[in-house]
Amino acid sequence: MTPSENRGNHGNHVPVVIVGAGPAGLTLGNILRAGGIHCVILECETRAFIEQRPRAGVIEEWAVRGLDRRGLAKHLLARAERHTACEFRFEGERHPFPYGELTGSHHFVYPQPLLVTDLVREYAEVRGGDIRFAVRDVQPHDIDTDHPSVSYTCPGTGRREILRCDFVAGCDGARGAIRAALPADRIRVARHDYGIGWLALLAQAPPSADRVLFGMHPDGFAGQMPRSPDVTRYYLQCPPGDDPDGWSDERVWDQLRRRLAADGAAPLVQGPLIEKRVLDMHDYVVEPMRHGRLFLAGDAAHLVAPIAAKGMNLALHDAFLLGDALTAHVHGAPDAEGLLRGYSQACLRRVWDYQEFSQWLSELYHGTATGDPFRTGTTLARLRRLFTSRHAAAAFAEQYLGAADRY
Ligand code: FAD
Repeated sequence: MTPSENRGNHGNHVPVVIVGAGPAGLTLGNILRAGGIHCVILECETRAFIEQRPRAGVIEEWAVRGLDRRGLAKHLLARAERHTACEFRFEGERHPFPYGELTGSHHFVYPQPLLVTDLVREYAEVRGGDIRFAVRDVQPHDIDTDHPSVSYTCPGTGRREILRCDFVAGCDGARGAIRAALPADRIRVARHDYGIGWLALLAQAPPSADRVLFGMHPDGFAGQMPRSPDVTRYYLQCPPGDDPDGWSDERVWDQLRRRLAADGAAPLVQGPLIEKRVLDMHDYVVEPMRHGRLFLAGDAAHLVAPIAAKGMNLALHDAFLLGDALTAHVHGAPDAEGLLRGYSQACLRRVWDYQEFSQWLSELYHGTATGDPFRTGTTLARLRRLFTSRHAAAAFAEQYLGAADRY
């Protein structure tokens, strides 16, 4: 079915309007299209922009299997790297951590822009999905009724358009419009601020090591995450709100070398820095993730600071559950109402588990840079325990991979 047939058959009514074409919205759209369900995705940026926006890279195995089951992982499985180990560096020593051996599981490394590109192509060009880019001023209406709608300004004509629908999916990320339209007295927003900044960097250079590196240093945390053969992500802890312009390339590489230094470590592979921005580390969780016929998914509902590389994984998890529940509803499956009713709770169990891990990991990364000898001592004890206790190592590996049997 082509996008025009999609629209023509239903006038301005579609069963589901999805706001936001990130991993959550695109995965949801693809699941609905596979079930033969009409939907429209409204995205405020251009296609070129979202297909190049760099962010995540680490995807958990269960999430890739979930994409694969829905026919969405062909390119990823062909091109992604498999990672089975990471490495901690502290007190001048390297400590490789072979989490694959402990769990039999691994991470996939696949840059988010590639995943988004795959998902847009599949949705729009293979499954005939309707996606409208560069729309403005998206607003949900009548969300307390059985007949919600979403209005937006069309970029071509400048006219206000309205889509009537049965369900609205707010997949518009941390700064989107849908969550902001929810009545404040009907949701609870739990927030956590780490009081820490990370300078997020992308280097046009091959990785300096074939695995993720975590450097715990009195000057602050440093990390290296391979993204592709010629692009590598690095992180440097910095004060929140710090000015990225204060970080010359020379200062960046000097601090990376210092914080990631360890006996026997290969020198860092330097290259031009193509992204340099400061992220203030904070988390939030919106509860519940459903309000009548409006559902939130992904960063629109919960933000996990990139400390544990979990945000996109959670966005995919939400999209799987919501896609399956809405498909069941439209097809009149007997368990559909239970799936829709249980959506928020089912998502939030994994969300809170990942938030807790992120908080735990933050102390591991940042504790030795507090200048507080007590926190430095306990952080080093926590680090050493990963290498002296089989049980502690296995528990860490399970959380790092999101591989628990149940959440
Ligand atoms: P988004 O990707 O933010 O998509 C939302 C979409 O909605 C966007 O396309 C946006 O343009 C659009 N939109 C916003 N407002 C509107 C509006 N009003 N109207 C219409 N459209 C709108 N996660 C991991 O799992 N692993 C990692 O390794 C990892 N690394 C990260 C590194 C960095 C530096 C950062 C910043 C994040 C990282 N994350 C990681 C988190 C991950 O990128 C996000 O959690 C993920 O993008 C969330 O997907 P989403 O679809 O919910 O939201």
